[in-house]
Amino acid sequence: MSGLMRELAAGRRRLLMDRSSPGRVGATLPPPDVPEQELPPDSELREDLDFPEVTESELVRYLAQLSQFNFSIDHNFYPLGSCTMKYNPKLNDEVASLPGLAQIHPLQPDDQVQGALRLMYELQGYLTEITGLAGTSLAPMAGADAELAGMLMIRAYHHERGEAWRRNVLIPDSAHGTNPASAAMSGFDVVELPSDAHGDTDLEALRASVGDDLAGLMITLPSTLGLFDSNILEVVRTVHEAGGLVYGDGANLNALLGRVKFGDLGFDVVHSNLHKTFTQPHGGGGPGAGPVIAGPTLVDYLPEPVVVRRASSDESAAYSKGRPVKSIGRMGAFHGNFGALVRAYSYISTLGREGIIQVSEDAVINANYILSELRDCFDLPYDRSCMHEVVFSARSMNRDHHVSALDVSKRLIDYGIHPPTMYFPLIVEQALMIEPTETESKETLDSFVAVMKEIAREAREEPHLLHEAPHDTPNTRVDEARAARRPELRWRRREAAEQDQGGEG
Ligand SMILES: *Cc1c(COP(=O)(O)O)cnc(C)c1O
Repeated sequence: MSGLMRELAAGRRRLLMDRSSPGRVGATLPPPDVPEQELPPDSELREDLDFPEVTESELVRYLAQLSQFNFSIDHNFYPLGSCTMKYNPKLNDEVASLPGLAQIHPLQPDDQVQGALRLMYELQGYLTEITGLAGTSLAPMAGADAELAGMLMIRAYHHERGEAWRRNVLIPDSAHGTNPASAAMSGFDVVELPSDAHGDTDLEALRASVGDDLAGLMITLPSTLGLFDSNILEVVRTVHEAGGLVYGDGANLNALLGRVKFGDLGFDVVHSNLHKTFTQPHGGGGPGAGPVIAGPTLVDYLPEPVVVRRASSDESAAYSKGRPVKSIGRMGAFHGNFGALVRAYSYISTLGREGIIQVSEDAVINANYILSELRDCFDLPYDRSCMHEVVFSARSMNRDHHVSALDVSKRLIDYGIHPPTMYFPLIVEQALMIEPTETESKETLDSFVAVMKEIAREAREEPHLLHEAPHDTPNTRVDEARAARRPELRWRRREAAEQDQGGEG
């Protein structure tokens, strides 16, 4: 890159504060239509408010440039494992923006919002049917919130039976970090359960861990290794025999939709993330929604509100918000994240039963296609067919060429592809966790495979390309140690920031 080009690129990265020039104004205000007032005395005025002074066109360009720095599923392939970055149909947004749904107020009386309540009632029904359980509450705002709800339900159940001594919750070592956090926040002690050599739950270890103090098990299915636990029926039976309950983390249900029901496997309570499986957009980290769905044992403990339908001749009062008899209470204000509920409803009703079944077929075939195309370039720690995601390892690559999973991920950015999840699950060294989702075409998968093969070649022949990647982005590789130790969380005058950096040892 020439000096001039580098300078121009740096200009486009400059923060708004650093583009400021005294006296420039970005707004044209009409003459005041109220009498002019004296300003308060000087001693009460602050002079240190450093607002940027820019013109309107500078501001618009700045915001437009910023928006282009964002990567999203609408730009390109986004195979972030466990996050299910599938394409979100625009129709769902359109439905959620309908004034009758977008502009209602959560405090409106039930008889004015029968349509919205009916939508919630039917969505509860869809999710209950998909999971094969007994009832759904749409209240939790995210997956972790739903886990908290489910674990509090399990706790309330044991307490009501006079078995408050049941304090242990078993959680496999491949679990998402929110699982042990939710169990601990609900007052339980977490006991880690190892996986066996095939990536399934280690049954020996399970049998050794269940006792009178067992409250339950939290398990992700398919596991975060992308595997369907072949021991699952035995796992559920063992936990139940010891008096525990089984929590299923169904954040990513793509592989099971229309094929396997948690209820049939004996699970007691499950959650699913509408922002993963059911196309609520979540690239920027929210907003989400995590309905919690319970079997017969726990359905009375669901958080409120749960929408109920009265068999009434008066259609204007058919649906109302109810409180399950032993409800653990509310997870937040009002009715959960309503916009996300509308999108999920729109998505499920657009697909219908056949479409739902097609989703899981395509999600699993896509992941297995990537598995078989890339198995010669990367290590495959569990050599068996996968579900909706596949976990590779860059272990040999790292050993032979000093190229890590991080380097591979950073290099993918140069090719315009979002990196996969790295270093998770924790039990896989140098993990690269790829979830293509069902919404990608064979052409997209083929071009991803071609890029990954090229990166594997580069790792052998030109590893410096990977060590220094990304080369082509507004910000190149960040200093992660410094970001963790001395994060800069607010803007400061450039001179002050530079002085500080110079003084850093
Ligand atoms: C994303 C995820 C969660 C947490 O969901 P949030 O909505 O981010 O709180 C829990 N478990 C698994 C397996 C996940 O992928």
